[in-house]
Amino acid sequence: MSAKIALLPGDGIGPEVVAEARAVLETVGQLFGQTFEFTSHLIGGCAIDAHGDPLPAETLEVCRKADAILLGAVGGPKWDDPTAKTRPEVGLLKIRKELGLYANLRPIKPSPSLIDSSPLKRHIIEGTDILFFRELTGGLYFGKSGLEKTETGETAFNTMIYSTHEVERIVRMACQAAMKRRKKVTSVDKANVLEASRLWRRVAERIVKTEFPEIQYDVVLVDAMAMHLISKPAAFDVVVTENMFGDILTDEGSMLPGSLGLLPSASLGEPGPGLYEPIHGSAPDIAGKGVANPLATILAAAMLLRHSLNLEKPAAAIEDAVEAVLKAGHRTKDIAAAGEKSIGTKEMGKLVLERLKA
Ligand code: NAD
Repeated sequence: MSAKIALLPGDGIGPEVVAEARAVLETVGQLFGQTFEFTSHLIGGCAIDAHGDPLPAETLEVCRKADAILLGAVGGPKWDDPTAKTRPEVGLLKIRKELGLYANLRPIKPSPSLIDSSPLKRHIIEGTDILFFRELTGGLYFGKSGLEKTETGETAFNTMIYSTHEVERIVRMACQAAMKRRKKVTSVDKANVLEASRLWRRVAERIVKTEFPEIQYDVVLVDAMAMHLISKPAAFDVVVTENMFGDILTDEGSMLPGSLGLLPSASLGEPGPGLYEPIHGSAPDIAGKGVANPLATILAAAMLLRHSLNLEKPAAAIEDAVEAVLKAGHRTKDIAAAGEKSIGTKEMGKLVLERLKA
């Protein structure tokens, strides 16, 4: 099998961390008899500099034809001028929209070796392994909105809107993922108040009951979920929810492992390639210094293998290698305890490669 992987290193630390993830993919390909064809393209600030466009047509075209996309990060102070014609983030929003990436996946699985970096107590965080599915192209962020002048000031509104089809496809995707995990799905809504949530709940329940009868299914209101996520995170497996609830809950969840430098995410649609990236940004404060933690991007590469190329064993091999390196005590600066020795981006990447080969 030869898979086409489009690399979009982007800005800041993006190129540094994507280089390490690429090396890991090449090595895992050799070890498992897979070939990957890599091509690299501009997105974000560097694309504005070169073409005046954060998502040049050439980049989009190659991405459409790729089997999967691995992105670093975009943005930085150089492109922050509020009067500028365009911004790096526009490239990111546009690629998600153009490729119809309606599902955002975020695993929340703290490394056993870094449990004490979590803001939660060890006995609460231990055993946590959640996979969030956030709906990404509907709901409140895409519904009709407006601003009107009134006699007393102004009135603004946004509308949360969902169709049967939009709920069906993301719940189905979440259930398919759950079937390969612990077969447990939690749907989060606000059906006691919102009409859109009542539709969500009805459709979600029908999909689970008729298509995935083996799945253990429950429903939690979003306000309760915000509490459960920090009081009993280990109780959840796959969690599926609409756009805004997912936006807030996944950010809450991303704090649980205690470090930004370790968290990957994926945005998926059908048909077409998935886009994989670390959840952190371009970290301009450390760009070019060789100290960025490449592990989130390396773990994003593992997600790419699992979700876009159906290569579970190589994906798990990468995750095991990362865990082994952390277990052996190696730390980049962002995850090192005070006074603890730290290593750079390349050294961390090299250690993961060595573990994979071992
Ligand atoms: P950031 O995630 O880039 O950085 C926040 C802090 O975490 C910084 O101190 C940074 O040094 C540190 N950090 C982040 N990733 C790290 C890593 N891999 N290793 C070690 N330390 C790491 O967030 P920010 O500072 O708010 O944003 C910087 C730029 O990134 C902005 O232009 C923002 O718009 C952009 N951004 C892009 C994305 C994306 O491309 N998906 C996401 C978030 C922010």
